[in-house]
Amino acid sequence: MKSVRMIEAGKPLELQEIPIPTIGEKDVLVRVRAAGICHSDAHYRAGRSTMGFLPITLGHEVAGVVEKLGLQVTNVKEGDRVCLHYNITCGDCYYCSTGNEQFCDTVKMLGHHVDGGYAEYITMPARNAIHLPDEIPFEAGATLMCASATALHALRKARVKAGETVAVFGVGGLGLSAIQLAKALGAIEVFAVDIKQDKLELASEYGAIPVDAGRGNPVEEIRKHTRGKGVNVALEVIGLSKTMTQAIDSLGFMGRAVMVGMNQQPIEINTYSQVLGKEAEIIGSNDHLLQELPLLVDMARRKILDTSRVVSQVIPLNADKINQRLDDLENFTNDVRVVIVP
Ligand SMILES: [Zn+2]
Ligand SMILES: [Zn+2]
Repeated sequence: MKSVRMIEAGKPLELQEIPIPTIGEKDVLVRVRAAGICHSDAHYRAGRSTMGFLPITLGHEVAGVVEKLGLQVTNVKEGDRVCLHYNITCGDCYYCSTGNEQFCDTVKMLGHHVDGGYAEYITMPARNAIHLPDEIPFEAGATLMCASATALHALRKARVKAGETVAVFGVGGLGLSAIQLAKALGAIEVFAVDIKQDKLELASEYGAIPVDAGRGNPVEEIRKHTRGKGVNVALEVIGLSKTMTQAIDSLGFMGRAVMVGMNQQPIEINTYSQVLGKEAEIIGSNDHLLQELPLLVDMARRKILDTSRVVSQVIPLNADKINQRLDDLENFTNDVRVVIVP
């Protein structure tokens, strides 16, 4: 089969002919119908993260059709439309068995530690396959598995309740999902903070109150809108020290700030005025859980989460075209969400 693979760190991906993967008793073979190109893939190609092995097929946002079943598989059948949860966990270790599989002792990520979806076929444990309803195109199903799923997990970690207010710092794919999902979970007001006009406009189309951080201090703006109270929940999805601090500062009493964006820089916190005095919480959120995905897919099927505008371009399984898109992501030159359709 055709597969676009990372051969060496820092080098362009290459098209390779490799055998169709064999499956174990609890695995499925999936004919890939869509594989999202994600910002993380640019990091992997650049060599900023240790890969499971090389050469390796990238791609962790995958949807397709079940082609073949292992002997013990009962949750899906041949011909089923599925999307794939990208973290392969054991299901048996302490963390898996206590419902926190993101900390599995042997967690492996698709397209990072094992071969991913930039290929014609992929094999996965059958438990990672989520049914994809006919109403959701494969391209949208693939992208649900990354940014949208991470947004849902972050909001669940934030314990958003009906009647609360939420501020989302950063209106990318994750932020736009977070805005819609926060409303679905009962938030009555969602503030969208960004500096790009088109992003802020899109956020308002999804019912958020735009806060232009390029024009003034977003914390003051949020306080003004909430009559000085601040928000119940703030999500930081960019990964900048400045916006992390702003997210914490925008909280009201008992507020919860969730850190989702990756940032290697430390931030300074006054534990009295910013945390203890307000009984505020700073919460970390990393990835998402298999158990959250059926709900997410159902929200997309019911159009509570709109997926119609996520994918901006579809390309074939072509190494040059994929490398070009990864260059765009690496250099922030072209803000498009591209999906490979092999
Ligand atoms: Zn991704
Ligand atoms: Zn485990």
